[in-house]
Amino acid sequence: MKKCFSFLIALTIWSSAFSQNRETDLQHLRVDVVYLASNMLEGRETGKKGESLAAQYIAERFAQAGLQPKGNNGTWYHTFDFKYNTHPHGGGEEENRTGTNVVGFLDNGAATTVVIGAHYDHLGMGLEGSSLNAGEPAIHNGADDNASGVAAMLLLAGYLKNSSAKHNNYLFIAFSGEEMGLFGSKNFVNAPTIDLDKVNYMLNMDMVGRLNEEKVLAINGAGTSPAWKDALEKISQNGIKVKTTDSGVGPSDHTSFYLKDIPVLHFFTGQHSDYHKPSDDSELVNYEGIFDVANFMLQLIEQLDNTGKLAFTKTKDEQQQAASFKVTLGVMPDYVYDGEGMRIDAVLDDRPAKKAGLEGGDVIIQIGDKEVKNIYDYMDGLALYKKGDKTKVKVKRKNKTIEKEVEF
Ligand SMILES: [Zn+2]
Repeated sequence: MKKCFSFLIALTIWSSAFSQNRETDLQHLRVDVVYLASNMLEGRETGKKGESLAAQYIAERFAQAGLQPKGNNGTWYHTFDFKYNTHPHGGGEEENRTGTNVVGFLDNGAATTVVIGAHYDHLGMGLEGSSLNAGEPAIHNGADDNASGVAAMLLLAGYLKNSSAKHNNYLFIAFSGEEMGLFGSKNFVNAPTIDLDKVNYMLNMDMVGRLNEEKVLAINGAGTSPAWKDALEKISQNGIKVKTTDSGVGPSDHTSFYLKDIPVLHFFTGQHSDYHKPSDDSELVNYEGIFDVANFMLQLIEQLDNTGKLAFTKTKDEQQQAASFKVTLGVMPDYVYDGEGMRIDAVLDDRPAKKAGLEGGDVIIQIGDKEVKNIYDYMDGLALYKKGDKTKVKVKRKNKTIEKEVEF
């Protein structure tokens, strides 16, 4: 009886310490996201005042976590100049911009270094060609994209400082210039502040703030090392379900590292209708979800601590395929949808899908003669058409199957 009693006390103390840490972590995540996504930072546009305030904040948080500055000349900052074309497809005005990556290092005296990154820039008042906002210019706060990734990175910095996983050093990079074209990560890999040959692997967090009820976490780049899939399968974190894609090329900063033959993973909780709109706000963020993603990643890093430098493999790149489309439907695919078909997350105004009467939530199961079982079938199906073509698109809407005629 006594034994049982003291066991109960021990359990109570242990679990309250555990939940206290969890509460503290959640508090930090909230503070970081709310600040970075506040109107004061005016959407963190690269080269503007709001971004520089964000950079200072991240540097302070790196210092608090016990990291060392690893930018240029012993500072936290790795700056770079680039030309930004205000019109996304050329023909606009070229502007000279300066971006600022924020870089912190955890030196364990190890032979290899793990890079952990998240971009912190966003769209300001709405960059031309990137904003999906239909109305007047407005501050794009970018809470999910990507204050959430930065907050997760800051949490990981604290975890790894106290972790027993010491066979790697850790380099944390808050990238700038991502939204204008991955400029921060491209410039970092071309002018790195550590030896890139000694980088073991790179983990990128871009949009980890909207973990859904089914807890599906998309992990891209799983084909970039033979080690990834086994390692991911061993992890269990509060019911998280992993959905992987292989390609190392995607629309975020891990691509820059993959193209230098470094194994990469991109963590992503999925697309949503506030994406690249002023409504991507901090009150819509799932903070418990960010906590789970960061703890999932901690388990991965600790599991790989003793395995040495990971082998790199090239992947076939779906993205290049995507770039060859002549037409689009004007929908945002739900990248974390698990069922058969291609679920539409949102339908864009004045585009073929909307004009044909498709809606968010519809699941595309056929385009013309092409059956659509997943997002790749969908891409293959689209690739068969050119502008002006008409075809039938079959979708599931609730329990009904509906057919609509689309004109591209
Ligand atoms: Zn992003």
